[in-house]
This record gives sequence, C-alpha cells and structure tokens, in this order.
Amino acid sequence: MNFLEERILKDGVVKEGNVLKVDSFLNHQIDIRLFEQIGEELKKRFSEKKINKILTIEASGIGIAVIAARYFDVPVVFAKKSKSKNISGDIYQAEVKSFTHNEINKVIVSQQFINPDDKILIIDDFLAKGYAMKGLIEIIEQAGASIEGIGIVIEKGFQEGGKIIREYGYKVESLAILKSMNAETGEIIFK
Ligand code: 5GP
Repeated sequence: MNFLEERILKDGVVKEGNVLKVDSFLNHQIDIRLFEQIGEELKKRFSEKKINKILTIEASGIGIAVIAARYFDVPVVFAKKSKSKNISGDIYQAEVKSFTHNEINKVIVSQQFINPDDKILIIDDFLAKGYAMKGLIEIIEQAGASIEGIGIVIEKGFQEGGKIIREYGYKVESLAILKSMNAETGEIIFK
C-alpha cells in the first residue's frame, strides 16, 4: 500500500452516492506534506515526458497542481468554471457536468495561456465518470496543444472515467485506484 492509500484508509469517509470525502487532507483542509509527496510521485511517473505546462480545473485541482508544478518547474493554468451563458472573447471553452453537484458548468481558459506548442500534463484530484477530464481534453484540443499525460490523485476505478480516458490513448497515472467502497460499512478496497 502506498502513502496515499494509507491516508485514504485512515482519513477518507465513504458517503452515499459513490462519494469519497477527503476533506480533512485533500480538498478542504490541505496536508501540504502529502501534496509534496503527490507532486514528487507524479514527477517520477511522468519523468520521461517533456512537460512545459500543467492544466487543472478549479477548485480542488489547483492546490495539487501548484505543488506538483514545483517538481516539474512549470507554470499552472486552471480552467475556470463560469455560470454565464454568453461568454465570448479570446477563450477556449467546454461544458462539464459536475459529478458532485449534478449541474453543468462552462469551463473556460483564456487563449493567451495555452499555445499550440505547449506540452501539457493534466492534473485533477478525482477521476470518476470522466466529465471534468473530457472538458480539459477538449480545451487543449481547441488550442492545438499536445497532451503528454494525465495525473490523478484518486481514481474511482468502479466508475467509467478511467476506462474512457485510457481508451483515448493517453497515459493516465492515478496514485490510488479504488476498486470498491461501501457507504454502509465504510470499507474501501484498492485495485
Ligand atoms: P468526473 O468529472 O470524473 O465524473 O468527476 C471528477 C470531479 O468530480 C473531480 O474534479 C472532483 O472534484 C469531483 N469528484 C468526483 N468524485 C468525487 C468523490 O468521490 N469525492 C470528491 N470529494 N470529489 C469527487
């Protein structure tokens, strides 16, 4: 079991609706030392790739991406969620269904910050059904940049996102992959 799996077992809470709560260390209170370990591990797993930018999505991807970026020594761009229907101007945009809130957000990135010659690592906290990831991929495709890989902290392997995104052909590295979890017993099993 790796450092992250150990932490999930210790502090993760399984909720109804296939939701794993990791608020005490990942997406409400943040354990900086753990984030450093995550950043270091992601750097190791993508060491053969030439990456010049990290893309993530607000809000909970940002902290992870920022600390990981220190190990890659590259800037971070985060896609912003926008409720406005009429967005225009020099932006890339995609629609992303929210797994946790069941609503559709437009996510946008200014064209200024992704260029065709960028080699991008996408980072996010969770991979569940793959909605967020599809949106980020769409934005990078609009920019004509290259996707060097996808780094995920927690993949819920019993949901379809991981399979869909790997079938696109991308290198996907998830630091913890859940095989199953049970809200009644609180049991969490890793792949
Ligand atoms: P997807 O778009 O792959 O369905 O879900 C990924 C997004 O939904 C992530 O950005 C994450 O914020 C949120 N998410 C999905 N599943 C969970 C979960 O079990 N726990 C938490 N805390 N967030 C989740």
